[in-house]
This record gives sequence, structure tokens and C-alpha cells, in this order.
Amino acid sequence: MRRYEDSYRQKGLRRQLVDNIRQKGITDENVLAAINNIPRHYFLDTAFEGIAYEDRAFPIGEDQTISQPYTVAYQTQLLEVKPFEKVLEIGTGSAYQSCVLGELKANVFTIERQKKLFDQVKQFPFKSRYPTIRFFYGDGYEGLPTFAPFDKILVTAAAPEIPEKLLKQLKIGGKMVIPVGGQDVQRMLRITRTGEDDYEKETFDNFSFVPMLTGKKS
Ligand code: SAH
Repeated sequence: MRRYEDSYRQKGLRRQLVDNIRQKGITDENVLAAINNIPRHYFLDTAFEGIAYEDRAFPIGEDQTISQPYTVAYQTQLLEVKPFEKVLEIGTGSAYQSCVLGELKANVFTIERQKKLFDQVKQFPFKSRYPTIRFFYGDGYEGLPTFAPFDKILVTAAAPEIPEKLLKQLKIGGKMVIPVGGQDVQRMLRITRTGEDDYEKETFDNFSFVPMLTGKKS
């Protein structure tokens, strides 16, 4: 059994990481506090423990990655999460981002299409720490119609275009943050549903995510 331990050294490195992403332009103190509170090294293979607090993505198996902390903070800041909001996340991956949303006291519904990653997440110790996160195995392109509408939707994989079904699962006044574009580079978008059939689009920086793929993988 792996032992999970959050040492003074790791806490110190985490504070440095928070300073680092603050300098890169993240200003939301709640988001920075969330990053400071979560032992990111718990989400990585022990081989990466020593470098877990570098501001970069790492492999988590199945050709997937845990996003760079700056990117997690950037998307979360754009989402403007308030306590008790219903937030749908597409792409659970390591569940690090889900826990950031949990720290912000959101009611999180997170979907992963790969069964292995979905199963892996169940063994982690944070599950009891964040009772407001619910995990689903499924295709994020479908969203979660049974639990819709959502205050916020966060897509953590690169979508070739904005998925129509997800737009329809936003509350009026709700927001979706999603990287949209080609394989190598995507543009971060924030879509606000302003009416039954009305949406407003804001455009932010470029990023590079792993692709959002259709269907489930067993
Ligand atoms: N939020 C994650 C980032 C993981 S990378 C984290 O903090 O670690 C993106 C994840 O999206 C991968 O795990 C990938 O398997 C998943 N994914 C890709 N397409 C998907 C889809 N259609 N539905 C659900 N998950 C998807």
C-alpha cells in the first residue's frame, strides 16, 4: 500500500508553485488557496513525487496527463465558481482539477471516458475529503442530462468545436470554459448562456490539451 504523506518540504514547494502561478497572472485568491491546499504529489506516480510542484503537466497513464497547475488555475479562475454551484467537468483524469473545484465548495459532477482512469481515481485518499465530488464513467460529449442544468461546465480536453449538447445543459446565466481548436493548439473560450437560444463568447489565451475523444473506452 502506498503511504500518502504531505511533508514540510512538499508544503514549501507548493507555496513556491502558488507564487509562481500568481506571477504568471492568476489573481483569484480562492483559486490560489485551493492549489496551496491540495497535495498534488498524491495524484502522481511516486516516480514524479520529487518534481510534482514544477509548473508542468505529467503523464497519468493511458496516454493522458494531469494538466499544468497554471492551466488548472487559469480555467478555474475563468469559471468564477461560487460555493454550492453545480459544476460539470469533462475529463476527470487524475481528479486533481475536480479537487480544486471541491476546494471551492462546488457540487462537482465529473466524467471520464476511460475505464482504467475512472477506476484508478477510486483508490485515492481524497475521496472522503471531497464528498461533494461525484464520479461518472461516460462520454463527456453527452454531458449528464439527468443532472442538468449546470451553473458551470469545465472541459479539460481539447474540443474540435463547442459540443452542442453541453451548451444545452447550461443554466441560463451559466458559463462554460473550454479549449477549442486543432490538435496542437487551442483557444480558451468562455461561453455564457444569456437566454434560451442565446450565447455570448469570450476568447482568451492559447493552450495545448490532450484531445477530447468520442465514446467510452473500456
Ligand atoms: N482534469 C484532468 C485533466 C486530464 S486530461 C486532471 O486534472 O488530471 C483530459 C482527460 O479527458 C483525460 O483523462 C481523457 O481520458 C479525458 N477525456 C477525453 N475525452 C473525453 C470525453 N469525451 N469524455 C470524458 N472524458 C474525456
